[in-house]
This record gives sequence, C-alpha cells and structure tokens, in this order.
Amino acid sequence: MKDASISYPELALLIDGEWLDSASRPGRTITNPATGAALGALPYASEADLARALDAAERAMAGWRAVPAYDRAIILNRAAALLRERCEAIATALTLEQGKPLAEARGEILTAADIFAWNAEEGRRAYGRIVPSRTPGQRNMVVKEPIGVVAAFAPWNFPAATAARKIAGSLAAGCACIIKPAEETPATALALARALVDAGLPAGVLNVVFGEPAYVSGYLLRSPVIRKVSFTGSTAVGIQLTTLAAADVKRCTMELGGHAPVIVCDDVDPREAARLAVAAKYRNAGQICVAPTRFYVQDGIFDAFAAAFAQAAADLVVGNGLDAATQMGPLANPRRIDAMETLTAEAVALGGKLLTGGERLPGAGYFYRPTVLAEVPERARIMNEEPFGPVAILNRYAELPDALRAANRLRYGLAAYAHTHDARRAQQIADGLQAGTIGLNTYTVTQTEMPFGGIDHSGDGKEGGIEGLDGYLVTKMVMHLP
Ligand code: NAD
Repeated sequence: MKDASISYPELALLIDGEWLDSASRPGRTITNPATGAALGALPYASEADLARALDAAERAMAGWRAVPAYDRAIILNRAAALLRERCEAIATALTLEQGKPLAEARGEILTAADIFAWNAEEGRRAYGRIVPSRTPGQRNMVVKEPIGVVAAFAPWNFPAATAARKIAGSLAAGCACIIKPAEETPATALALARALVDAGLPAGVLNVVFGEPAYVSGYLLRSPVIRKVSFTGSTAVGIQLTTLAAADVKRCTMELGGHAPVIVCDDVDPREAARLAVAAKYRNAGQICVAPTRFYVQDGIFDAFAAAFAQAAADLVVGNGLDAATQMGPLANPRRIDAMETLTAEAVALGGKLLTGGERLPGAGYFYRPTVLAEVPERARIMNEEPFGPVAILNRYAELPDALRAANRLRYGLAAYAHTHDARRAQQIADGLQAGTIGLNTYTVTQTEMPFGGIDHSGDGKEGGIEGLDGYLVTKMVMHLP
C-alpha cells in the first residue's frame, strides 16, 4: 500500500520530450528501504519505447551538436539553478527511495547542480589546436567534436551525482543521451531530467528509460546509433557491457567496483585518524565505490585505533534518513543485508574478530548495524569481494612495504587512502598504491574538477576534470592546403 502521508513524485519515462506514465506500462513498485512501504509505480520501457528513444536521440543529436557550446552552457547552468531551487523536494525523494540521511541527500543534489554548472563551462573550453605545418601555406588543425549518442547507466547509491556526471558530460560535449538510471531510485534522476526540460533542453536530447537492466542495456548497445557507453556499477556488469560495446567499437567509460585499502601509519594520532575514517566508512551506509574497507594499521597504534574506531562506529545513530538525528540510514535493498550477513559470518568463522555490529536491526526496513571486524585472514571472502555496505576490516602491519603489498593484492584499483604526516612515507605511499584515486589524510576524493576513476578491474576512463569531458569527444585532424 502506498503511504499517502509522504510526498513522492509520479514516475515516468522521458522519450522525445514526452513524459510517459505507468498507465499502460507494467513495471515495478518502488519501496522505501527505511520502512518497506510502497512509494510509487515505475513504468518499464517496451521494445517500441526503446526504439523510439534511439530514434529521438539520433534526430536530436543532429540539432544539439550544432547548438553553440556557449548556448548549451546557458541551458545547463539554468538547470543547475533549478536543482538548487528544488533541492529540498528532490533530496526528500532521494532519501525516501534510497535511504541516506537527508543532509547527505541535500549535499548530493547540490553536487549534481555543481556538476551541471562545471560541465557547462568546460564544454565552452573544448578547444582544439593548430599544429605548425611542414608544408608552407598549409594549416594543420586539431578539432574536438561530440562522439555521438551516449547510452548511460547510473546506479542507486548516488542517484543524483552519478546520473549528473553522465548527463552533463554528454550534453556539454554536444551529445544526445539515453540514460537508464537504477530502477530502485528513479525519482532522483527524473528530477534532473525535469530541471533540464524546464531549462529549455530540446526534445530528444535527453531520454530517460527504465526496465530490466540486462534487457535495456543489451537492446541499446546492439544499436549502431549508440557510440559511447558510460556505466557505473559492479565489475561483473561492467565487463559484460564492455564486451557488448567492443563488438561495435563503441567507446566506454566504466566506473566499477572498489575495495579501498587504508594504510594507517604509526606517526598519526590513532583517535583522530579513527574519527575521520568512521565518518568516511559509514557515509551512505558504506554503499560507496570509494568507501574505505580494508584498514592496514601499524602495530604500535593498532589497539588504540581499533578501540576508537569500534566505539565511534557503535555510537552512530542508525535510523530513518528523514529523522534529523540519523547518521546512518538503511541499506538500499535487501540484497545488501544478505551480503553483509554472509560475508561477516564467514569472516568470523575463519577467525576474524567481531568488534561491534554484525547484525541487522529488527523491524521493517533494511537496517544493518555499523560493523567492525579485526584480524581477518586474507582468504575470507570479505577481504576479496567488495562488501558495499557498513562493514570495516582492521588488520595489522609491521613495515610499510608489507602494507603496500597487502593494499595492492586485489585487482580493484579505484580508491586508496593513507594516514601519515611523514613526508617520506606519504611519497612512498602515493607512488606505491595502485589506484586511480588516492587520498592522503583525507577521504574527500570526488570533486567535480578532479578526474575521478579507477584502474584495472575498477574501470577505465574518467569522470570529472578535463579528462571527463574528453570522454564524450572525438579528435579530428584537418590538414588544409588552400
Ligand atoms: P548489480 O550488479 O545487480 O547492479 C549494479 C548496478 O548495475 C545497478 O544500478 C543495476 O541497475 C545495474 N545493472 C545490473 N545489471 C545491468 C546490466 N546488464 N546492464 C546495465 N545495468 C545493469 O548489483 P546490486 O546488487 O544492485 O549492487 C551491488 C553491487 O553493485 C555492489 O557490490 C557494487 O559492486 C556495485 N555497485 C557499484 C556502484 C559504484 O558506484 N561503482 C554503485 C552501485 C552498485
């Protein structure tokens, strides 16, 4: 039963500028992870809808690429302003469908606005260059052009920020986009689309579809209309999509899973380091691809760090994200609870120590206590598979090379962190950690102007920074002898 006391928007598809509601389209029910209550009905795109989205995007792309970057920026900036104006309503919908505390949801909507505004300006700077010619009188030019229609797939953990990166990158570069946001969190992505439509985006430049993920991605990626794929999600799905894309030489940007290590050196205050680490670990209930997960703590401060960490984790207020006191909300779906239970139980069975947590909360909603494990053997699944939830692992090390070896032993290479105030150690760590994103004494590693992304099984390509926009551009050279 839908709870009539809460305000959650009607859900729809957006195809060729038209909002298509659930009246004649079966789909799924969206539920609130904090209560289990139904929020609304999400329509799924039919095959005809997907074909129409491809056709609309192809037609709209021809007009949009011809719009001067200066004018495209005006629309993106206007949409950014609308997102800021509508922040409270969109953040509430985000918390209802995803669970994170309202303050985190507000921050995410403002980040999405920032992403729109930054890409708007960056799109105006998609400069080419003139290369000195070997032939007298000849002009050698390098120009940047939009790559073509983009198929984007955004996840449920940051439904505003991840969708905004893909939409803003596409539109700023002059590309049309078909986005399939996660089915769990549709209202947030639809609010971004609504802001763009209200800001004057021409019909068909952005299309929003939902459906069974493998069906939608398979359909879109088999079409020659799509020239680029941007996906954020698990490594397993990223590999499937990269394989599909390769069959038609489509470019990919893949933001995949992570299993971020943290090296805590013995020159830092263990309590201060633990305080920072706990705030980062349990943000969004640990459902963040850059969440710190494997802590390698130097012997001399291990006990003090572990005690402070476990205490701070146990003190976190867990509850409905709409309650002002809540510091950690529910997990986004029951799959995550099952994963936490299985991974934690196996780690303990193999000799890991449970310092706090390790259980779900009774009642409705998908709540799992902030959990800390210590001295977990490397063969435990949780040391090898991304937990994507509120579980931290604290292990010891003796010398820095041991910690670097342990940190680098997985094929993931998204984020990695360290705590040290020793310049020599900091340099060794920055050079030695194999990851695309490194935080030294900070966990704030996703800023719009910085090129965010992983290496190896954590993905390929960047979002943000000048590299981010470049992912939506092709380079053409023109050699002109008049
Ligand atoms: P999942 O692999 O089923 O789904 C992950 C995301 O990919 C979802 O948004 C889903 O809609 C989408 N997806 C799944 N199959 C797809 C397909 N064939 N084509 C297109 N999109 C597809 O896992 P889940 O249970 O929803 O999430 C848990 C796992 O997903 C985590 O362990 C984590 O590795 C990963 N994940 C990563 C991020 C990230 O920010 N990198 C975000 C969300 C989920």
